[in-house]
Amino acid sequence: MSAEARRWLERIRALPLPERFRIMNVCGGHERAITMAGLRRLLPPGIELIPGPGCPVCVCPEEDVHQAVQLALREDVVLVAFGDMLRVPVNVPRRVPRSLEQARAAGADVRPVASPMEAAAVARAEAPRPVVFFAAGFETTMAPVAAMLAEGAPENLFVLLSGRLTWPAVAMLLESETPGFDALVAPGHVSTVMGPEEWRFVPERHGIPAAVAGFTPESLLAAFYSVLRQHLEARPFLDNCYAEVARPGGNPSARRLLAEVMEVCDAPWRGIGTLPRSGLRLRMAWRAHDARARFPAYEEEGRRRAGRMPPGCDCARVVLGRIYPDQCRLYGRACTPRRPIGPCMVSDEGACRIWWAGGVASRRSTRPGSRSARDAKTVPGARRRPTLAADARASRLPGLDGTKADE
Ligand code: SF4
Repeated sequence: MSAEARRWLERIRALPLPERFRIMNVCGGHERAITMAGLRRLLPPGIELIPGPGCPVCVCPEEDVHQAVQLALREDVVLVAFGDMLRVPVNVPRRVPRSLEQARAAGADVRPVASPMEAAAVARAEAPRPVVFFAAGFETTMAPVAAMLAEGAPENLFVLLSGRLTWPAVAMLLESETPGFDALVAPGHVSTVMGPEEWRFVPERHGIPAAVAGFTPESLLAAFYSVLRQHLEARPFLDNCYAEVARPGGNPSARRLLAEVMEVCDAPWRGIGTLPRSGLRLRMAWRAHDARARFPAYEEEGRRRAGRMPPGCDCARVVLGRIYPDQCRLYGRACTPRRPIGPCMVSDEGACRIWWAGGVASRRSTRPGSRSARDAKTVPGARRRPTLAADARASRLPGLDGTKADE
């Protein structure tokens, strides 16, 4: 661990910490950085780090995956998708392929791609065969899909779009009676595209501290420190601890392309239900490239799968931060990366997969309430705390300057 990360840890430990403080992250990259750096073990025990709805593959609805599998099984179709979508299972009878990988084993032409441009290249090479690009992702993935279409996609490329926006899931949690967290670490990549100010509603409407973070332990620890200070000073605002990359207004070109090619719509989230204005669909001008318009019968068939989850699968509660991965009774037993039951064990951004890859069998040391009574009495007000601005000067880290991200 770097000297800077150690300094942030010391600052956090020196705070008069509440007995319990729950910080949710909504980015698979954050969860991976937290787990691989072992930050849960290093933080004081009353601080809980909760993985939230940060994995687009995990929330991709069953009906969309089923539709992709059925399209792949058509003899004339080439199906391309990002690699981690290939192993996402759907709950179907054993004799039927339950993932794109199984469809490929059954003879379907399924190919992984690393980018929308690669999908377009496959379509050009295979013309006039129809190539269906199953594109699931958040804003950061949708922007390059929009750019590829705007630049002029081959006529035989059809996009099966499963785009989702990140903030509506957080808004849904905050508007529920039990949000389940006391502060939010907002996603760095999404903020880079959409602008950090998209997360202003968290402190302003709900009074919850929030900070945008990057993907290093230093940036994450700075964000944890910021939200703790905001809480202790009863002064919630949106801090930006990733200011060198996530700038006010985000990426104007990416946002323009998104608005030009896609429109916001109500959308289902796997195991969660339909969230208003949480999805992206192609605008009418791009209907010629819409797989749902080109193959309407498959959409109807896919809809019949809606809401079906594998028995015992707790992915929806993991995605919403209601439980930790190891609280699913299938974690590491029936469900492992080799034999995944739910999408959270498939995707590189899924919390279950990240925990398993990080060697986390259980989170004994970070169990809620594990902070001892003796520790809980730690020195309220015993040390005069420096101001956020003073900390920023001392650390030279971006953010933590006591100003709102959009100022
Ligand atoms: S362990 Fe498997 S079934 Fe359980 S929540 Fe995680 S991915 Fe889903």
